[in-house]
Amino acid sequence: MDYCEALEKILKSNIVWIEAQSCSGESINILKSGCRSLENLFFNSSPFKLYSTMCGEKCGKDYLNELLSQKDFVLVIEGAIPKGKDELCYVGEYTCSQLISMLAEKAKAIIAVGSCAVNGGIIRELGYVGVSEFLGKKVYEVPGCPASEKMMIAAIYYALTGGAK
Ligand code: SF4
Repeated sequence: MDYCEALEKILKSNIVWIEAQSCSGESINILKSGCRSLENLFFNSSPFKLYSTMCGEKCGKDYLNELLSQKDFVLVIEGAIPKGKDELCYVGEYTCSQLISMLAEKAKAIIAVGSCAVNGGIIRELGYVGVSEFLGKKVYEVPGCPASEKMMIAAIYYALTGGAK
């Protein structure tokens, strides 16, 4: 299986992708991976849900509620999380911290993509932390700035399938 096939497979799976404090580098990296029909799958497939600055007007209140009602999903987090400064990062009506905490409770696996999500990255000195430190537990991690699209696809595929071929 090449990585475009793996990507198509994971985008048909139940994934919630949240962009916290980020430059969208990981979302952009996946979108420019060169795989056919990717944009349509990425933005419109169901039950895959992306909450990113890149989804524009589509990501209103109803979309956010739909996202919060998801069950049996893998949670992918891009970007850093402000620790103790919730007001610095909002996703719709929730702070990034609130939304990620709620989703993390229900997720069957959590993957931090990009160095900002792994350890706070370039804004760590401003009080931002990575997903593992924020949640106080181990998560899958894909470092890099931006993280490699192939490594992100591999990590999500592994989390969904346990590494099955
Ligand atoms: S790790 Fe790099 S590419 Fe990813 S959100 Fe942070 S600054 Fe942007």
